[in-house]
Amino acid sequence: MSSPRKEWKGGVEMITGFSYLRAKSVKDAISGLSKNNSRVHAGGTDLLGCLRDRVFTTDMVVSISGIKELKGIRETPDGGLIVGALTTIAEISENPAIRKRYPALAQAAAEVASPQLRNQGTIGGNLCQKPRCWYYRGEFHCLRKGGDMCYAVQGENHYHCIFGGDGCYIVHPSDIAPALAVYKANVHFYGSAGAREVSLDHFFVPPSKDVTKETVLEMNDILTEIVIPPAPIEMKSSYRKVRARRSWDFALAGVALALQMTGDKVTEARIVLSGAAPIPWRAFDAEKSLIGNILDSDSIKRAAVLSVSWAQPLKHNAYKIPLFRGMIEEELTNIFH
Ligand SMILES: Cc1cc2nc3c(=O)[nH]c(=O)nc-3n(C[C@H](O)[C@H](O)[C@H](O)COP(=O)(O)OP(=O)(O)OC[C@H]3O[C@@H](n4cnc5c(N)ncnc54)[C@H](O)[C@@H]3O)c2cc1C
Ligand code: SF4
Repeated sequence: MSSPRKEWKGGVEMITGFSYLRAKSVKDAISGLSKNNSRVHAGGTDLLGCLRDRVFTTDMVVSISGIKELKGIRETPDGGLIVGALTTIAEISENPAIRKRYPALAQAAAEVASPQLRNQGTIGGNLCQKPRCWYYRGEFHCLRKGGDMCYAVQGENHYHCIFGGDGCYIVHPSDIAPALAVYKANVHFYGSAGAREVSLDHFFVPPSKDVTKETVLEMNDILTEIVIPPAPIEMKSSYRKVRARRSWDFALAGVALALQMTGDKVTEARIVLSGAAPIPWRAFDAEKSLIGNILDSDSIKRAAVLSVSWAQPLKHNAYKIPLFRGMIEEELTNIFH
């Protein structure tokens, strides 16, 4: 992919050379996106940064921000929720139904960035945002940009992944994705092939499948809504995030948990990590070790150890192993008490 065209005016670097379409409907947007090298613009908080930082170029920006049908949160007849792709992250963190029935999602949304970014950024954009690897965001033509090497392997990899790296070692940047994954959400999208849906578990593309893609969406697909199934009353869930600094920052490590209990026995468990892998990472072994067992300090310790047993750290990020282990132990203990 070539660099965006840039020019300098009065000492300020400008991005030039794309046309702009403000779509009135999803079909209108799909038709705009069928032109070569077009990009979807929702809140613009990530897209504009990518264009400015030369991560990619575009010939046409298709704004979907005026499409009413993509906005807002609705109940489904069976007690689940439909969250439109343009729903802002602030709306998600404040919505009473989400706070009550899907607390991990409300907590994750409240942990995203700053109040201004939560007011402008949308859930669709959060799931489709580009990776934060500093080589990728910088002027390095790495594997993910179609180049022939990963600069992080031998370079500054303090914030890179400890699971699932295969040629590329990014971590998935979203706090919201792991929280949606513990509630088994589905992603609905629309493109030239019509309407489709996929479980969130299969929405993200690992580097082992295609190092240049983050999601299953094609260039002219639009994520339209996220459907969250009803949450059983006995489900307990939470999201916890640790940052490098006590300010607005992406997750060094994030843990979303959802447990269903009958008495003190675990009947179902989902543990999904952020800041760990190129996609939201299911801790399958830890989940399995909990199911059918009583939640006590022994089963909690075992699950925490198993959650990191397959970790493959790079030179500078092995600190994430005890970090995740400790966070998972603490979060399970909080649910237990
Ligand atoms: C300083 C900063 C700090 C941040 N911190 C965090 C954090 O702590 N945790 C976290 O989770 N995130 C964080 N983010 C990311 C932030 O949440 C995203 O930038 C935001 O959610 C993107 O939403 P948007 O509507 O602005 O998307 P846009 O910027 O408009 O789009 C982002 C990308 O998604 C594509 N896209 C957007 N909507 C759709 C759609 N409906 N269908 C198909 N493609 C689409 C765009 O083409 C683009 O590639 C941070 C961002 C910044 C700039
Ligand atoms: S980790 Fe991925 S995005 Fe970062 S330099 Fe390596 S290939 Fe590029």
